[in-house]
Amino acid sequence: MIKNNLNEVRATLNSGVCLVAVSKYHPVDAVQQAYDEGQRIFGESREQELRIKHEALPKDIQWHFIGHLQTNKVKYIAPYITMIETVDSMKLMCEIERQAQKNERVIDILIELHIAQEETKSGMSIDDCLQMLDGGEWRDMRHIRIRGIMMMASNTDNVDTIKHEFAQAQEYFKLLKEKYFENDDLFNVKSYGMSGDYLIAQQYGSTHVRVGSRIFGNKEI
Ligand SMILES: *Cc1c(COP(=O)(O)O)cnc(C)c1O
Repeated sequence: MIKNNLNEVRATLNSGVCLVAVSKYHPVDAVQQAYDEGQRIFGESREQELRIKHEALPKDIQWHFIGHLQTNKVKYIAPYITMIETVDSMKLMCEIERQAQKNERVIDILIELHIAQEETKSGMSIDDCLQMLDGGEWRDMRHIRIRGIMMMASNTDNVDTIKHEFAQAQEYFKLLKEKYFENDDLFNVKSYGMSGDYLIAQQYGSTHVRVGSRIFGNKEI
């Protein structure tokens, strides 16, 4: 039997914080074991790997897509995905709306913001995000729900940098909430914090932490 650290991680979560168990690079068996221990929300970052796991595993798992998503892949996950955390363009949002409608579903999405200094990190700048939301097209989309924001902090040991980035994320969430979603109770998700920084993220209002290696260990597949 594979030993995971699910319960150790759970014990460190603030009350009300939702754990997205990131199972990428870990086999179906590892996911099944966490499922048997009561975990229902899992995060995956590659469409093909997700497809295999979705087919093999219990259907009440809530899958969150957390990787970069190409518009031409949306159709494969639209029939079953619970949340797409990495929406970084209007084009992608439109395609999710289109595919969700085809499947007669409503898909929850997060806007991925680029806050870290690192060029390699993905996501939209806050300015592009504001411009997109000012456009207002999203208001007519009946098959997506914009639930909040997602971001990744810099990959660094400098705790001050990380704290600064989470503080910024918290501020941007508040700005978007006030500007566009004041009366929308469902705009309530702040997805930040990974294995190395989720304890800090929780101090900055994170509602969803995405924890992989701390639970499942290092990459297996
Ligand atoms: C892989 C991944 C995680 C989990 O990372 P760990 O450091 O293994 O916890 C979280 N979020 C995203 C977007 C990822 O790609």
